[in-house]
Amino acid sequence: MAEAITYKGRILNPISPNEFEDIIDGAIIVQNGKIVRYGRFNDINARGTLVDFGDKIVIPGMIDTHVHLPQYDMVAMDGYELLDWLSHYIFPAEKRFESPKVAQEAARRFFEDMQANGTTTACIYNTVHKDATERAFEEAERSGLRVFMGKVMMDQNCPDFLREKTSESLETSELLCKAWHGKDGGRLNYVFTPRFAPTCSRELMKGASKLAKKHSAYIQTHLSENRGELNLVKTLFPESKNYTDVYEKAGLLTPRTIMAHCIYLDEPELLILKNYSTKISHCPSSNFFLKSGIFDIGKITAAGLDVGLGSDVGGGPNLSLFREMANASNMSKVNYILSRGNSKVIDPTFAFYLATLGGAKVLGIENVVGNFSPGKEADFVVVDGAAIDPLRSNRKRTGNEILSQMIHRASEETVIATYVRGTRVYQK
Ligand SMILES: [Zn+2]
Repeated sequence: MAEAITYKGRILNPISPNEFEDIIDGAIIVQNGKIVRYGRFNDINARGTLVDFGDKIVIPGMIDTHVHLPQYDMVAMDGYELLDWLSHYIFPAEKRFESPKVAQEAARRFFEDMQANGTTTACIYNTVHKDATERAFEEAERSGLRVFMGKVMMDQNCPDFLREKTSESLETSELLCKAWHGKDGGRLNYVFTPRFAPTCSRELMKGASKLAKKHSAYIQTHLSENRGELNLVKTLFPESKNYTDVYEKAGLLTPRTIMAHCIYLDEPELLILKNYSTKISHCPSSNFFLKSGIFDIGKITAAGLDVGLGSDVGGGPNLSLFREMANASNMSKVNYILSRGNSKVIDPTFAFYLATLGGAKVLGIENVVGNFSPGKEADFVVVDGAAIDPLRSNRKRTGNEILSQMIHRASEETVIATYVRGTRVYQK
């Protein structure tokens, strides 16, 4: 039994989409990587070593439910919409991962930056390359972060230099899954990753579905992101009623499937997703950046679907989940303006939930991380509350005020330290 450690600070703890706790002079007791209890320092019967963060803010580790590792060095390249952006910038960038050395260096930098941004869990796309994905998993293992990842699968409508043979794509994906899925007590997980319908044959998607079920692994892909993409899917899959139906026919809809974007879904499609308990990753920065569309959070929550946030680097220009919270809020306000006040706005409490407990639910780990409930694993981030205040002071702010300023003003610069399972993986 390792010694307990008590961490003291101002605790912001998400409870639900419309509730969070604000504990001034709070504390969390951690032992063996797990949360023993939390509450007001004076009431909590603190024990073991004391780590005092003073009036700094302590929040749960943030969860990025959709991000592309090999695209990190091509972020913020403006000027295109999705399909042209893929051909112009992204496919050439992914080609460079033919070299395991390039892949390894990129993965190391990527995970370091993720730690510095306060992201403790991420659901990641790699390239089609087996060795590159292997290197990325090795770096993920070393980083201490909680990583869900897979190699991209593509066997049609993509450049020759990235196109795989269907059988080879399935075989190498399964090998990686066998090597990494569930490793280190479930810290590392494998995600079967057919890129999106246009670049995947029916056979490839069906094969991915079978393998994911066989190994109880995850599935991730893109759905209904951009109008050009919708037209392409209609042409390529004329037998399908709609885009969601393409994935349903292929068997890719499961409770362990994470669909990124989901902007242009109609009611029947939302119903299908709900029937399978399929999860959604909302990527507002990317949707703005690539001019893809305006996601309507009200439509998604009314359908009873679980949703988290994704940076979608490189479609999104930044790894910070603070940016995603702010942009999710801003995108819901665009909707609010366009609908003349008849749509749901993401308030700070909801944004905070989406980046933490909501993301955990999307990955099916809401009993493991997402907030500070006793028994959960101790993933948390220490944020400099004074640095996000324009007056650089520690004047009295309510929980709502501090949460709102954190969402709209915090960044990598204001993250002081990041912990996963009670181990510090980053310190400024
Ligand atoms: Zn993406």
